[in-house]
Amino acid sequence: MIFERIVGIDIDGVTADLLGRWLTIYNEEYDDNLRHADVTDYDLNTIVKPAARNRIYDIVARSDIYDGVLPMTGASDAIHMLKDAGWEVIFISHCFRTTYDQKMEWLARFGFIDYAWENGTRPNKSFIAARDKLMINVPILIDDHLPTITRFTGSGRRGMLFHSDRHPQGLTWPEVTGALIGR
Ligand SMILES: [Mg+2]
Repeated sequence: MIFERIVGIDIDGVTADLLGRWLTIYNEEYDDNLRHADVTDYDLNTIVKPAARNRIYDIVARSDIYDGVLPMTGASDAIHMLKDAGWEVIFISHCFRTTYDQKMEWLARFGFIDYAWENGTRPNKSFIAARDKLMINVPILIDDHLPTITRFTGSGRRGMLFHSDRHPQGLTWPEVTGALIGR
């Protein structure tokens, strides 16, 4: 059996700290001081001020939301280590109409992919927008969304839950590289 070293990696919450940017904008606009540690549920409506309820998800659909997003701690080093060790990395992310271009350009800006657009128009093949990540044929998926990982593992593949305040039992980047390349 030939073992293909291909890994699917989620962007938000694994590669990119979208939540940090989201909370910064929310805190500024709604005069609050929520932090990562306050987010232990998937539905942010449960922790934001009443005035922000049902509007909180509009923030992540903004056309400039990725301008201030930083990589997750350790993501850059770890993903470069995986590539150096011969792993093919496919970024898989659910996109809004406004965020596909932004995520592609963000990945290139922080060196996760070599370029965003081939000849200015053709998207880099290492980034796939998918609302249901199970449809993507990768043998391993790293994701911070537990239901996705549970379903992925149930499909007979290897799902690796990434660490978050929602799921402290998840793996950090050093633990991911330790599991995949032994360092
Ligand atoms: Mg995610």
